[in-house]
Amino acid sequence: MIRARPRTNTDGLGMTSPRARERLIESLRNNGIRNERVLDAMRQVPRHLFIDEALASRAYEDTALPIGRGQTISQPWVVARMTEAVLEGHTCRKVLEIGTGSGYQAAVLAQLVDDVYSVERIDELQRAARRRFRQLAYRNIHCRHADGQLGWEENAPYDAVIVTAAGSAFDQQLLRQLTPDGVLVAPVGEPGSQQLMRWRGGEAGWKPEVLCQVAFVPLLSGTL
Ligand code: SAH
Repeated sequence: MIRARPRTNTDGLGMTSPRARERLIESLRNNGIRNERVLDAMRQVPRHLFIDEALASRAYEDTALPIGRGQTISQPWVVARMTEAVLEGHTCRKVLEIGTGSGYQAAVLAQLVDDVYSVERIDELQRAARRRFRQLAYRNIHCRHADGQLGWEENAPYDAVIVTAAGSAFDQQLLRQLTPDGVLVAPVGEPGSQQLMRWRGGEAGWKPEVLCQVAFVPLLSGTL
């Protein structure tokens, strides 16, 4: 399912070329990303259009990059791992993301599920992300400027909630907005010692699982 219609980039450097993207996909595969649908979605999404032009030549390096206002676009490997974790083991059609940032993670998800709802607390970032979604013709990403810690009740239930900023605890509201066999994927912990966690719903309640070590910007309260 291909929904994005990326603009072609003709910067002449070759750093944003299909070959650069293919090298990134190979590196993700070599580092344990197995879901071919996820790899294919990441091949489709033009990451260089989600960052400042001055950084575009680094877009297909497997690294987080600054997007302004002290925030970052996540490292591609982390985006791939989180997307795999969201999709695994259940039917996943509707996802809530907390922390739109550049919009890149939302765009990758939008290639794979029916609808993505994404909340961002910094207005300037969510406006820039909205513009990108429009330019790239993503019609299945729905944005909101708000503190996302309490989720987005109006569109619940979601098959998955993905949090892309690290918190020390999560409000029970988030779990209540999930379907009974839904999943919550989120980085948990203090700067310097965060773990990517997944909670899966089931008859016995919400089961936690540690996926890997990560480094995310903090989940903060209020809006800017
Ligand atoms: N998913 C993003 C990652 C952005 S970094 C991407 O692909 O680029 C995390 C983002 O979470 C930042 O933009 C930050 O402003 C936002 N954030 C932090 N706390 C938040 C909150 N309580 N509600 C909504 N967004 C939040």
